[in-house]
Amino acid sequence: MSNTDFALAVEGLTVSFDGFKAIEDLTLYVDKNELRVIIGPNGAGKTTLLDLICGKTKASSGSIKFQNQELTGMDEYLRVRKGIGRKFQTPSIYENLSVFKNLEVSYPEGRSVFGALRFQCTPAVQQRVQAVAQEIGLDHVLEMESGLLSHGQKQWLEIGMLLMQEPELLMLDEPIAGMSARERELTADLLKRICVGRSVIVIEHDMEFVARIAHKVTVMHQGKILAEGSMEAVQSDPKVIDVYLGH
Ligand code: ADP
Repeated sequence: MSNTDFALAVEGLTVSFDGFKAIEDLTLYVDKNELRVIIGPNGAGKTTLLDLICGKTKASSGSIKFQNQELTGMDEYLRVRKGIGRKFQTPSIYENLSVFKNLEVSYPEGRSVFGALRFQCTPAVQQRVQAVAQEIGLDHVLEMESGLLSHGQKQWLEIGMLLMQEPELLMLDEPIAGMSARERELTADLLKRICVGRSVIVIEHDMEFVARIAHKVTVMHQGKILAEGSMEAVQSDPKVIDVYLGH
């Protein structure tokens, strides 16, 4: 497989903050249909890496290609249009709006100012809302005010809002934080479903959850990749046990 066959190709990526290299010469390839989990101790550079891919932070050097198109230098909103979606830990939903409305306004046309003026909830948009609501398991609460949802449901709604934009790369930061055991199970199933046809990158600390969902695990330490491979391989890697799992 050549490097151009990967959906996401990060090569020689470096970013410095006041001379401190938070990410140093990092190379990472992620496939389509792949669910990659990034683990590593606090301060390893996991969040910074996702910030660089989505354009929230600009790289000092290196290259980030998505579907063979260079992203470095491209503004964050243009990367969203290229199909890159990012979910942060705290859900940012419209608490006063219904689940349906939250999904509806996340339809790409509903987002821009001019689009919103012309925006109509056509049958096609309604169908898309229904399909996404079903995918995230919230089709039975479409009319409920979102502020009344459980913590887990709010997280799923935000994933649904990203899905409305038909992303091809989805990045999620600790998606199960604060969830009940049952919500974790449902989230694992949801993540396995949504990586079909796209790439998903998840930052996670809960090793039981990582083992359940990861196709491949990347272990970061001090801005670099310490190990990469199957959960079994990284779990038994002495370097990984030393800096992360042994604690
Ligand atoms: P992780 O997500 O693995 O816990 P981070 O990516 O948040 O790690 O941070 C990696 C390192 O980069 C940390 O030492 C952090 O303090 C530093 N860092 C991240 N963002 C900035 C910034 N904007 N300015 C200065 N230092 C930063």
